[in-house]
Amino acid sequence: MRVAVGLVLCLLLAGLTPVASASSESQEAWPGEPIDNHVHMTWAALTMEVNEWADDNPDIVRLVDAGSSELGKTLWVVQISDWSMETKANGKAKEIVYIDGGHHGNEYLGTSLAWLSAQWYIENWNQGNEEAVNVLQNTEIHVLIMLNPDGNDIDTRWNINQVDLNRNYDHFWNTCPTTQPGSAAFSESETAANSQYMNDYVSDADLYVTMHTGVWIMLYPWGKWASQPSDWELFYGIREEVQANISEIPIQNANQGLYPNCGTSRDYGYGVMGFPTFTFETDDEQFVPGSVEALNERLAEELDVMRYLISNVWYWRARLDVQSIQVSDDHVVLDVENLGMASTTNASLQFVDSSGEVTWTSSLFSVNQSNSTVAQLDATNLSYSNDGTWQLYYQKRVIDAAKWVTEPLEINATMMDDDEDSNFLVGYGLFSPTTILAGFAVISLLRKEDEDSA
Ligand SMILES: [Zn+2]
Repeated sequence: MRVAVGLVLCLLLAGLTPVASASSESQEAWPGEPIDNHVHMTWAALTMEVNEWADDNPDIVRLVDAGSSELGKTLWVVQISDWSMETKANGKAKEIVYIDGGHHGNEYLGTSLAWLSAQWYIENWNQGNEEAVNVLQNTEIHVLIMLNPDGNDIDTRWNINQVDLNRNYDHFWNTCPTTQPGSAAFSESETAANSQYMNDYVSDADLYVTMHTGVWIMLYPWGKWASQPSDWELFYGIREEVQANISEIPIQNANQGLYPNCGTSRDYGYGVMGFPTFTFETDDEQFVPGSVEALNERLAEELDVMRYLISNVWYWRARLDVQSIQVSDDHVVLDVENLGMASTTNASLQFVDSSGEVTWTSSLFSVNQSNSTVAQLDATNLSYSNDGTWQLYYQKRVIDAAKWVTEPLEINATMMDDDEDSNFLVGYGLFSPTTILAGFAVISLLRKEDEDSA
């Protein structure tokens, strides 16, 4: 997918008005020209910057052309990971994080937070920073820094067709009083390309952050409805951790935290893609030339929040961990822990025979976030034999759109008499507050280790 960089640069330079030099060492400056009271990065400057990142860091940076704006400007995605390994060291798939910025072309501070988030991992990887190395060995970070380059370059909220791109997504499009949403969902090439990228590259993401400027706030779904999202526990848990340890930034559902809106990328990311999704709004103090505070200092707190969300991405879904399976003539007793911070409500246990065929699927059970469940499952249709195996089939989160996963289990069932299991269940602490606290303690501990190593 990587385009011929030389060619692009030639084309760029041919028709280029002077832009600030885009040195990859310049951690302080958002490279670009001041426009009004904004410090502005042109699409051309960004193009040079991301190509330089890719040229200088082939071990960790891949540059992908995700499509074009209405005026034909490339929508660059910077993919950052330790590309010497396609998987984690243990052979499992890496976690996936998706970030985009610049839906609104006059919101430079939000766009620059997307840029800074990418730059932080690149620079800190090169310095051998333990947190950055750990993250990139276990995670793919995909960043589409500037979704609306046409609007960006003329300093306007809208794209070139005067459409509000963040009202143009195919999730309850144009079903509320709204700014210019376009002629149809995904009528604009920018939003169509973004959703295509989500589906093609990051459909397994366990975090999506879309960056804007306005009121200093983080917004989780929904914008469309005042009600809390199905995975409210996950969002509440993240808010608790962020506000206790990192930042007092308000974190609310968008409808009540800002105002009702529909057809947004946030609601699409959660409601259609099933991602845990935040709109990250930096404040509106886009600085004045001459009194420019270094960007990485200006946005240091916001970047800390991003690092927390990215370092802990493993937790932003249900992670079922089976402790034991006991089989009797009538039923199966499953003891299962949830190591993740999202609940799951449609889980089932499956038995796979020696030929690999699923011969039995249990009734559905739920496991709350950071909790345990002992599920007693009817097994009258189960033909159990020692040479078969077990697997779990469940959704990563509660929202209907959440991805389904199939996870083979490396655990053998134990046999029991039907008389025993009733005793087994007595006194077992279902939904015990102790296990919930234990779950949060683990995350706090991880967070602490991050800080110690930073
Ligand atoms: Zn915006």
